[in-house]
Formats: sequence, C-alpha cells, structure tokens
Amino acid sequence: MSGEAILMRNFGRSDSHTIRAYVETGGYQGWAKARSMEPTAIVDEVKRANLRGLGGAGFPTGTKWSFIPKNHTGPVYLVINADEGEPGTFKDRYLLERDPHALIEGMLIAARAINSAKGFVYIRGEYVEPWRRFSTAVREAYEAGHLGKGLDIVVHRGAGAYICGEETGLISSLEGKKGWPKLKPPFPAIKGAFGAPTIVNNVETLSHVPHIINRGAAWFAGLGTKSQGGTRMYSVSGRVVRPAVYEAPVGITLRQLIYDRAGGVTGNGRLKAVVPGGSSAAILTADEIDVTMDVDGLKNAGTMAGSAGVIVMDETVSIPEALMVVARFYAHESCGQCTPCRESTGWIYKMTRRIVEGRGQKDDLDTILDVAKRGAGTTICAFYDGAVGPYISYIEKFRAEFEALIPHA
Ligand code: SF4
Repeated sequence: MSGEAILMRNFGRSDSHTIRAYVETGGYQGWAKARSMEPTAIVDEVKRANLRGLGGAGFPTGTKWSFIPKNHTGPVYLVINADEGEPGTFKDRYLLERDPHALIEGMLIAARAINSAKGFVYIRGEYVEPWRRFSTAVREAYEAGHLGKGLDIVVHRGAGAYICGEETGLISSLEGKKGWPKLKPPFPAIKGAFGAPTIVNNVETLSHVPHIINRGAAWFAGLGTKSQGGTRMYSVSGRVVRPAVYEAPVGITLRQLIYDRAGGVTGNGRLKAVVPGGSSAAILTADEIDVTMDVDGLKNAGTMAGSAGVIVMDETVSIPEALMVVARFYAHESCGQCTPCRESTGWIYKMTRRIVEGRGQKDDLDTILDVAKRGAGTTICAFYDGAVGPYISYIEKFRAEFEALIPHA
C-alpha cells in the first residue's frame, strides 16, 4: 500500500513551515471555503468524513464539536493539545515544525464550527523548535490577516509533565493551576477552560480539517476504513531498518507498516513483539500483526490505536526489561491524586525491577496482575488504565520469560 501523503506532502521542502510555501500548495483555501459555510454544515462535513481524534482516545471529531451547548452565549474555547508525551510518539512535533499553518487553518475552521473566538495551543515544554516554528507561523497568520479577525491564538508552553496531555489536566495547567486531571462529567465541552465550554483537539486531528473541507468528506472517508476516514502519521521506532514517521491510510496493516514502510526488523531480524499505539497500548506478539491500524481494527485485536506510536522489538529484546522501563515511566508520571494509581504504579515498578535483577519472588507476577486488574476503572483519569495495558499484556503474553528470571518460580 503506497498511499498519498496529505499531511506530510510538503515535508520535503526546506521552507515548508512558511506561509508562502503553504499558500503556494493550496493553503488557506479550506478556510476560504469554510467562511461561507454555516457552522453546522462544517460539523456535518467533519462527521461524514469519519475523522477520529488522533491524540489517543480516537473519539469522532465532528461529534465532539457538536457537544458544545447550542444556546450558550458566553465564550467558547478551542484548545489544542500539542503536549505530545506518549512514549514512542513523535509525529505532532513534525507537524508543528514543518507544516504549522495546517494547524492554524484547521483551528480557524474548527473555531467557526464551534463559535469560538479564542484558541489556545498548549505545547510540550521540551518542544523548543516546534514552539519557535509555530509561534512564527502564528505571527505570519496575523500579518496575512487570517488571525485577529474573529479568532485569536495564544501559544502556551507546558513544563514537562506527561499528565498535562490528559485533557482535563491540560486545562488545569493552562489555567495556571497544578496539572491535575478532574473527574468527568462535566466534560470540557460543557465546562472546560476557565469554566467555559471547551473543545480539546489534537494537532494532527485539526491538521486534517482543511483538506476535508477542500476535498470533501466522501474523499476523506474513502481513504480509510468503515469507521475511520483518512490517513494518519505513524511514529515507527525500535528495531526497524528505517525508524521514522510514516503517513498511511488507516487501513494499512501493522505488517505492511513494519515490512513495507520501515524496511523490516533489525537486531536478529526476527520479530518478537510490537507496541502499536504508544506505551499505553497492550503489546502484540509477532503473529498478531495482520491487523489494520485504525481505531476499531486495533480495538478488536485487544489493544488500541492510541497515538500511533509503533515500537518494534526483535527477539533479542527482553520483555521484562521493557516492562520495567515502561513501569518506571508510569510510576514517575502519576500525578498522585488517586490511591490505586499512586501506590500501584510505584509498587509494580519495584516488583518488575526486582524480577529483572533476579530477586523476584514466586508470587510477584500474580500480585502484579491482581493489583493491575483491581485498580483499572477506579481512578479519576485514564492514566492508570493506560498503565494497566502494558502491565497485563506483557506478563500474560510473555509469562515464561518473566518466570525464567525468578528463582524457584
Ligand atoms: Fe492522577 Fe493517576 Fe489519578 Fe490520573 S489516575 S488523576 S494520573 S493519580
């Protein structure tokens, strides 16, 4: 499957981040068209396109927009989640650096659809160059008259906490508070930033919107599968010949992505396992890769599309060590509000570490599985459920490898 590049079509140009290059290649034409459309018509077009959120949750974008209360008279905010922090994921940084005007144009169209006059772009603190490039693009868009006549954009830098990528944590941080997630409901579309109805969208998601308005919902929907339209950008890393970001229709299989796009497996050349959607996704074994990379395809395979961060492991990779690294990350990043998340992430990291160091105890694996399963679904946000995905799947699918490290197991 080769597939047409849409989001990455200009990445080969050294000036792709400038407004001149963007306009030369059809930029801001979607916005010109959307200005004469009714907001509800824009929402309907995006719904028909089957655009799903590409940050992690995969929620239908047009449906999310339609949750803004119809009779609301006060401010409505559009917030862009550019706090890309899911391990194995590095695609939004390319969009911010190499095609920032696509996001600005997507924001103009989305803001019209939800009747918002103010957009915030929350950029991960570590993303210095993407922040510089995007801020320059915002200035260019003001100078060109696209911004400042109905929509203003505020660029806000985060300070490096993974949990600020969770939408309610992000909103708290944006408001100047600790980046702690909040219980939902109320959902941000009803009560979000500064108490106002707020839509939080991912960078890549909104970068698709100008193309949908330009070329039509049927075209975009036709690129994908039954329940998800278009292409998406897959960050492929680990033991592959060509680690990189690849744009492909969402119906591509994991096997095609690894072997046709990324050139196959390095290390000892034999595939052992793949994480298909960022570190929170359940791991797949080598014989589970004939699965389509859309939201429902991966869900049906018992994992998730998540942020489309694909981490490839060959047979020389130690799965217990891989789990220890993942567990250390979640223990470090838990915000600490919920007891099951705060306590379990720390304990599970300690137990995986002692297993890797040869000090594991006979019941450790069952204890980890028990603790992980009990805590799932009991916390304020989805962080802990995300951590549980790797805890359970790594152990259940590669149990013998863990047991081999435990004395008297
Ligand atoms: Fe914080 Fe974890 Fe609770 Fe989320 S689940 S609010 S990260 S303690």
